Parts: sequence; structure tokens; C-alpha cells
Amino acid sequence: MNYSKPRFKEKYGNFINGKFVAPEDGEYFENHSPIDNKVLAKYPRSKESDVKKAIAAANNAKDAWGKTSAGERASILMKIADVIEENLNEFAQMETADNGKAIRETVNADVPLAVDHFRYFASVIRAEEGSATELNENTVSLIIREPLGVVAQIIPWNFPLLMLAWKVAPALASGNCIVLKPAEQTPASATFLAEKIADLLPPGVFNVIHGFGPEAGKPLASSGNVDKVAFTGETTTGQLIMQYASKNLNPVTMELGGKSPNIFFNSIMDEDDDFLDKCIEGAVLFAFNQGEVCTAPSRLLIQEDIYDAFIEKVIARTKAIKMGDPFDMSTMMGAQASNDQFEKILSYIDIGKEEGAEVLAGGAAQKLEGDLSNGFYVQPTILKGHNKMRVFQEEIFGPVVAVCTFKDEAEAIEIANDTLYGLGAGVWTRDAHQLYQIPRAIKAGRVWVNCYHDYPAHAPFGGYKKSGFGRENHLMMLNHYRQTKNMLISYDKKKL
Ligand code: NAD
Repeated sequence: MNYSKPRFKEKYGNFINGKFVAPEDGEYFENHSPIDNKVLAKYPRSKESDVKKAIAAANNAKDAWGKTSAGERASILMKIADVIEENLNEFAQMETADNGKAIRETVNADVPLAVDHFRYFASVIRAEEGSATELNENTVSLIIREPLGVVAQIIPWNFPLLMLAWKVAPALASGNCIVLKPAEQTPASATFLAEKIADLLPPGVFNVIHGFGPEAGKPLASSGNVDKVAFTGETTTGQLIMQYASKNLNPVTMELGGKSPNIFFNSIMDEDDDFLDKCIEGAVLFAFNQGEVCTAPSRLLIQEDIYDAFIEKVIARTKAIKMGDPFDMSTMMGAQASNDQFEKILSYIDIGKEEGAEVLAGGAAQKLEGDLSNGFYVQPTILKGHNKMRVFQEEIFGPVVAVCTFKDEAEAIEIANDTLYGLGAGVWTRDAHQLYQIPRAIKAGRVWVNCYHDYPAHAPFGGYKKSGFGRENHLMMLNHYRQTKNMLISYDKKKL
């Protein structure tokens, strides 16, 4: 199949109460494709009044939706999954046009993972059992889970449809109504989804508000008429959102930034075999999704006695990464998501150079031909330095890896944990002791062992430290979207 930029309408609305509506003040913003910097479409530049309308619609719908059976909701979630799957290529093309990532990723990862996510949550709510405990012969305690009501969800631009699925599937499954704000850089797939599933959900259950953080996100997170705020984005934005939500004592879940270590022990070089090839691929995954991944393995830690031999292979593999038209199935790395992102990444490469880091690969913008020359492309870059440098400590969110060496296990753990963040980590070894003990010593919510960047539903995902709290991707997320009701029942006819 030949993939290309899909056709967009000139402008779109917010999705409120089952319908697309114009912003109250009539203001729109232009959304550009980072592939060639051309305008894709216009979206509402929503303000507080639009947000209030969406929250009111969700509140009107919440009682009826909250009373639906798990079976009914599961059936709807299954249908949403089917709709996304039936339109897989359209979703993938839209996502590539909007975010700039390579089509081979949107077709093979972003969209199928979103489909599976809805199916996973449809399945687990039907398999749940309640709990009844006999506290004594006349007293029974029943534990019942009730939906929170209306949840505000604010998501980033790096996996627009998948981050939506991670938020929307468990919230709907547990009986909540939603007001979702997609990132202003990537409004397309949430809009397309709303269009496709408008008939599947009662009006008001799922609402989408477009716009900027301070104008649309802030009133949403600050509202006293929502019952929870779920956020994915930068740590500093997460801190603001917690402040807004705290005024209403609203619960929050936070999926924030990262600076994940990817640690390679010397046993990986014992043999020149398939496993060693897998390790090399694992090291080069810093460039996956242009490095715009919260868990990007952006710090590469290599045991010093294998450093020279291993880094030579990593550099060669990095230089073989094919950049180019994101709609070409053979392209491995596409465009950075926006001009801001592009400039931020290049400025971090300069900061690294100024700090004395050695450039082992890349280190500059990538020039492409034709329309693509106006897009935002950065070469996959390897910087050699030490863990105190800013390029080791601050989230760059681009295809830039900072590499250093370590002597032994203790030093690997020390460097790995010497960060504000605790989202992901990778450990690569043939040593059975290390493959259990090292992950246990790393303070991160997800440690991949002899693999990386795998995000299956059914495996909890979330951060330690300044990477946030809450665990998505797993049935445990349901309880982040529910209240616990305890009914304490006495069967004693006389005693109080
Ligand atoms: P961001 O924090 O700038 O924006 C995220 C969302 O918050 C957007 O929708 C934005 O409009 C909104 N927002 C911004 N300011 C706001 C405010 N004052 N009030 C309310 N809403 C506001 O993040 P980003 O640049 O879109 O995404 C990149 C970040 O997301 C990175 O730090 C990355 O690590 C993180 N991320 C984390 C995970 C995870 O699961 N932990 C997943 C993906 C991305």
C-alpha cells in the first residue's frame, strides 16, 4: 500500500454532547504538519466557556452512563476497538501527518496498540469479581466500586492516539464520562476518533476540547465540576496541574517525563550471536519515534571493558538509520513533532558540545529535499560524556543519547539512579544474577530486561520519583478511576 498525507477538512470543532461545535468566541488555531510545515487544518482555540460546556455535558450524562452494566460497556469498548482497526490506515496516516513519525511505526505500533488497549479493558471489566467478607457471624462487609463521575484528561503529542487510548479506555470501562484535551500540536486523531465513534456512545460520555494549555487545559484541570484529573506530559506542567486540582481536592494521576538509563553489561559481548545483535538494536532505540518518548533510553551506560567494541557497533547501526519521507514504509525516523521541539533538541546538542561532550554520531539537523526541506528533522545523535552533564540530567525528548561507562554493578546502579526521574530503564546481560538484582536496585516503574520499548496492555506502566504516579496499561488503573464504597451490613436482630 502507498501511504500519503490524508485529506483534512479546512476546520474542525470541539466534540461536545455527541456533536461537533464551533468555539464560543469563534477563534481557531492552525495545525501544521512537522513533515513539511504546511497547514493541515484549523481547530478551536477553546477557552473556559467551551470547557464549561463540555464539563456540563459530561455531568448530564454521568448518572446514566455510570449505571450501565460492565457487559454493556465492554461491548461498546470492543466496538470502539473494531472501528479503530477498520480504519487503521487512515488513523496511521493522520497520526504521521500530524506528529511526523514514520508510517511504519503508526501502522505497526501506535494504532494496533490502541486497538488492543480498548479490547484489554473491555475484557478485564467482565472478569472482575467483587468482594464480600464475613467480619463476624452477623456482620458482612461488601466492597463495591463506583465510577468517580466526570474525569478530565490532558494528553501530550508524542503518541496522540495511544495516549488517548491509555486514558479513555480505563475511564470508560469503569463508568466515567470524559472531557479530553489533546495536545495542540496533534489534535487530529482524537477528532477523527470522535467522528467515528459518535454513534457508539451516548451524548456527553466522551467530549473533546481543543486548545492550548493555559487557555483550555487550565480551566479543565481547575474545575470543581470534574472528579479527577489524569495527566500525561512534562513534569513541570504536572506540578501546575496538581496545584489546580488540589483546590478541589481532586485526585490526580501523573505520567511525566523521564531520563531513562539503558545499561549494557560485559557479558553481552561473550558471543557474536543473535543476542548481541538484539543488544545493538536495543541501544539504538534511543532514536525510536525520533526520541520523543517519555521512556526514551536517553542515557546509555556501557561497562568499561566492552565500551570500545560495543560503541563501535552502536555507532555503525545508528549511522544506518534511514531518515526521509515519513510516509515511505522504509523510513525509520521521521520529523520531530514541531519547530519548538526541533529547536529545543538542537540547542541541547549545542549545550552538550559546550559542556565538553564528544559527538560520536549525528549532532545536527538533517537536510531533506523538496517540501521536506521545510520539515523538522534531526540526525540521531550520540554524545559521550558523564552523568553530571545537563545532557545526562535533563529531558531532551529527541533522538539524542548521552553515553558513559561504568566499572561494576555498584557504579551502574549509582549512575542509573542519579536522576530526578524514575520512569523506565533497560538492563542487558547474560548473567542470571544481574538480570534480577539490577532491575530491583533501579528506582524506576518499568525496567525492561533484555528488551526495550515494549508496551503491551496487561503490564503496568508508570513512574517513580518525578516521573509521576499511577499505573496505566493494567487493570490496576481501573481503581484510579473509581471510588471504593463499603457497605457494612448487620444481620443481628437485636444488637446494634
Ligand atoms: P506538556 O506538559 O507541554 O503538555 C501536555 C499537555 O498539557 C498538552 O495537552 C498541553 O496543552 C497541556 N498543558 C500545558 N500547559 C498546561 C497548563 N498550564 N494547564 C493545563 N494543561 C496544560 O507536555 P508535551 O510537551 O505535550 O509532552 C511531552 C512530555 O510528556 C515529556 O515530558 C514526556 O516525557 C511526557 N510524557 C510522559 C509519558 C508517560 O507515560 N510518563 C508519556 C508520554 C509523554
